Amino acid sequence: QEINLEVFSHNMIDAFQLKYPDYEIELNIEDVTHFFTDPVLLSSIYHNLMENAYKYAMPGQKKLEISIYRIKKGLMFSFKDQGIGIEDSELENIFKKFYRIQNRYNQQGSVGLGLAFCKELVNFMNGNITVKSKPGKGSQFDVMLPYDI
Ligand code: ATP
Ligand code: MG
Repeated sequence: QEINLEVFSHNMIDAFQLKYPDYEIELNIEDVTHFFTDPVLLSSIYHNLMENAYKYAMPGQKKLEISIYRIKKGLMFSFKDQGIGIEDSELENIFKKFYRIQNRYNQQGSVGLGLAFCKELVNFMNGNITVKSKPGKGSQFDVMLPYDI
C-alpha cells in the first residue's frame, strides 16, 4: 500500500503526543513523499521505537528526532533520542527476546520484546535495523526498508 510519509508520520506522532504531551518529536523528511509498504507493520515499528525513546529518556531531555531519507535501495527511518543511552557491551543483547538491561531506569510493565519484535518485522520486510548509542548521550535506531518488499 502506498503511504504518504508526512501524513503517516504525523498521525503516529499525534497519537503518541496525546499520551505523552511533554515529549517533543521532531520530524525531518528529505526528498521523498510516498513509500510502498505495509502501514500496519510500519506503525508497529514506529510505536515500539517511540515508546522506548520515551521510557529511556533522561529527565529534562525529552526529545526524539525522526528522520526519513533515501538511500540506494530504499528508505532509512532514523530514530534519534537524547536518552540514557546503552553501553557497548549491551548493544548485541537488546534485540534478544525478553532481554532488558538491568539498571535503575528499568521500568515495571516492560517485557523486553519491543526491539525483538521490531527486528522480526524489519527482517520480514527485507530490511534491517541497527543501533548506535552512547551512555549518557542517547541512542539512534536506524531502520532500513527496501523499495521492493
Ligand atoms: P517492551 O518493549 O517489551 O515493553 P522493553 O522496552 O524493556 O520492553 P525492548 O524495547 O526490547 O524492551 O528494549 C530492550 C532494552 O533495551 C530495554 O529494556 C532498554 O534497557 C534498552 N533500550 C531500548 N531502547 C532504548 C533507548 N532508546 N534508549 C536506551 N535504552 C534502550
Ligand atoms: Mg520497548
